[in-house]
Amino acid sequence: MSIEPPRRLEALTPAVHLWLPDGHDTWGLANCVLITDRDSALLVDTPYTADLTRHLAALADEVLPAGTRITTVVNTHGNGDHSYGNGLFTAAGAEVISTEATNAHLCKEPSPSQLARLVADCDPATPLGAYLKRHFARYGDFGVSEAVPPTRTFSGHLDLEVGGLAVELIEVGPAHTVGDLIVNLPGEGVVCAGDVIFCEDHPVHWAGPLTEVHRAVQRILACDPRVVVPGHGPVMTPADVSAYADYLLRVRDRVHAGHAAGQTVEQTAAELIAAETNPRWGLTERLAILTAVEYRVLDGDSSPADLIPLVDLAAHYAPTADPTAAASTVA
Ligand SMILES: [Zn+2]
Repeated sequence: MSIEPPRRLEALTPAVHLWLPDGHDTWGLANCVLITDRDSALLVDTPYTADLTRHLAALADEVLPAGTRITTVVNTHGNGDHSYGNGLFTAAGAEVISTEATNAHLCKEPSPSQLARLVADCDPATPLGAYLKRHFARYGDFGVSEAVPPTRTFSGHLDLEVGGLAVELIEVGPAHTVGDLIVNLPGEGVVCAGDVIFCEDHPVHWAGPLTEVHRAVQRILACDPRVVVPGHGPVMTPADVSAYADYLLRVRDRVHAGHAAGQTVEQTAAELIAAETNPRWGLTERLAILTAVEYRVLDGDSSPADLIPLVDLAAHYAPTADPTAAASTVA
C-alpha cells in the first residue's frame, strides 16, 4: 500500500503550519507542526521514513522565508513515527530536544532496522504477522537504519523562543509513553499534544495508566488553547478535547470493573470492544492494549511494557482477525 503524503502544509496561524497526513485507521502517519517567526523555525516531531521527511522538508521550504531553516526539532515522545526522521535535520546542524525520560527510554524502542526486519520476517498467517504487514509493510526499511536520539534534554518545563514567539515545552509523562511532552504556544492559542491525544482513531497508550493520560489531557486544557493538534488525526477544539478526556475515564472505569470482577485481560478487552460507542473511530483493537496496560498497573507491575506482545494482543481483535483465537494464543 503506497503512502499519499500531504500536498501542502496547512497554515493554522501565520506562525504555525501543519503537516497532517491522512493516517485514519492505520498506524504510523503522525502529525508534524512547523513553528516559524522572523528567521527562526522549529519542527514538532519528524515523520516515520526518510522519504516522508524529505517531502515535509520540501513543503517547509515553500513556507519558510528565504534563508530560514529548521534549527530545532522537538520530539513529543520516543516512538519512531515521531522521531525516525530526526537525522535529516541533525545532518544540517539542527538540535533535537526531548525529555530526559524519553531519552532514557529509547533503548526500549525498536530501531528502524529492527522494526523493518520484524515486519519483513513475520509470518502473515499469524494474527500478528498479518497485522504488522497490513499496517507497517508500506514503510519498507524506513530509509534509515538507526534513530537519531535527542541532543538536548530537560525535565519538567523548558521555555524556548522561536523568533519573537514564546514556545513552552511541558513534560506530561508518563502518559502515552514514559516521557511525553506537550508544546504550548500561548501567543497563538495552540497546543501540540503529541500522542497524549488521538483524534478519530482509538488511542493506544504504552505507559499509562489512564488516570495519568487523563491528567495529561487536563494539563493541555489548562493551557487554555483555541486549537489542539493531536498526535494523529485532525485538529480539535477544547470541547473535543474535553470529550476525549471524559472518554478516557469511561474506558478506565470499565477496565477497572472487569479487573475487580476477576475477568481476564481478554474477557475485559472483548467486552470493551463490543460495547464501543465510537464506531467511526478506527483501530478498535487498540482497546485491548489499553486494557492490558491498565491491568499491569492494577496488578502492581511497574516494569516497562514490551510493545510486541501488546501489538500481538491487539492483532487478535483486528477486524480481519478471529477474536476467539485470542484467549488460547495470548499469554
Ligand atoms: Zn504516534
